[in-house]
Amino acid sequence: MPDEQVYFKKIQKSVESITHYYDFKRIDTPILEDAEVFSKGTGITTDIVQKEMYTFRTKGGDLVALRPEFTPGIARSYIENGMYNLPQPVKVWTMGPLFRHERPQAGRYRQFFQFDIEALGDKSASIDGQIIQMSYDILKDLGFKNISIEVNSIGDSECKPYFKKILTTYFRSRKSTLCSDCQRRLKENPLRILDCKEEKCQRVKAGAPQIIDHLCENCHAHFKQVLEFLDELELPYTLNPYLVRGLDYYTKTVFEIVEKTENGTTQGSLVGGGRYDNLVKILGGRDVPACGAAGGVDRIVNLMKTREMKPDKKEVKTEIFLAQLGQLAKRKSLKLFEEFRAAKIPVAESFSKDSLRTQLNTANKMGIKWVLIFGQKEALEDFITLRDMDTGVQKEIKLNKVVEEMEQKINKK
Ligand code: AMP
Repeated sequence: MPDEQVYFKKIQKSVESITHYYDFKRIDTPILEDAEVFSKGTGITTDIVQKEMYTFRTKGGDLVALRPEFTPGIARSYIENGMYNLPQPVKVWTMGPLFRHERPQAGRYRQFFQFDIEALGDKSASIDGQIIQMSYDILKDLGFKNISIEVNSIGDSECKPYFKKILTTYFRSRKSTLCSDCQRRLKENPLRILDCKEEKCQRVKAGAPQIIDHLCENCHAHFKQVLEFLDELELPYTLNPYLVRGLDYYTKTVFEIVEKTENGTTQGSLVGGGRYDNLVKILGGRDVPACGAAGGVDRIVNLMKTREMKPDKKEVKTEIFLAQLGQLAKRKSLKLFEEFRAAKIPVAESFSKDSLRTQLNTANKMGIKWVLIFGQKEALEDFITLRDMDTGVQKEIKLNKVVEEMEQKINKK
């Protein structure tokens, strides 16, 4: 909506300035991709692909999907454009609409916006640290105060399958106490049971084994380093052993940034991300480790609105109103208006109105100081009448001097 645009603009500006600082370049991937990019990439057993992705067959018979997230499209683009040949890591960011057919609820939309940052081609824990730092910086820059980072490691292809087995054994013996979704997850991806929000599953998972105790040596060392970076950066984080994130491709580090309210509860995550060392390979590329994060723009906007975190309105205030009477004046007004635009001086108008009184009323409501009145006589004789709305004093200015004189008046203050 028009009133919300300032918030979206502010978020884009923060993302642009922080990504620019860390030398991330903008990338834009198509909204429509082969459905396979997501079914393979995001994962066939994920809620996103199973329940939420909008897929359809084109007249030519291709199965396509509206992108439900950015990462697989970016990884596909990395492969197709041979970005292995660029200096690594390849650091990119993007922002735009995504689509998920979710159950309608507060803060969840079927078309929503995310900003997204990705670094491909580097396995070092410092990249995880940088991605988390940048995500945190963006929220700080937007004015969020009480934010906290939740972090976990979910291992890699060496230790994750082993842990899944342990977890399956644990949950299988308690199957009847799980919700119906989790009973299905038990077969497909038991890790997902850990982030189920259903009350009955909460109790079962409280006693579940924790992956952190079952990481392989490599993942353990990597995670330790990530935490050391976060300590060094003095970022406020907590270990959350139940954080697994809903996507198949994550390996090692996963994190979410949440806002804590006064009574300590959180309102869902604002940013989420992690490392995905296998995704490029799953999509048919080489072995390229990577790490990234995505922030929910709509959710951030909603919070900014409720917290009255107004974006600073540094936009130039409009002080001039151009009022016109009659056809000739109207025609000439359009040209004058364009001259003001070229001089970058904001001018309000209401070309569709014919009565001077209505136009003066509008100017008054807008708190305008100067009204330029362009009537029949003025248009014929090439001058304009300037009215000071505070004092009511009027004077005439030659048409070819108007822009220059108004510029002086505005700059004098
Ligand atoms: P995800 O891509 O699911 O990890 O989500 C990253 C962020 O996007 C979340 O932290 C939310 O802030 C936001 N998000 C995810 N799904 C939606 C949705 N359906 N509507 C609005 N925001 C969403």
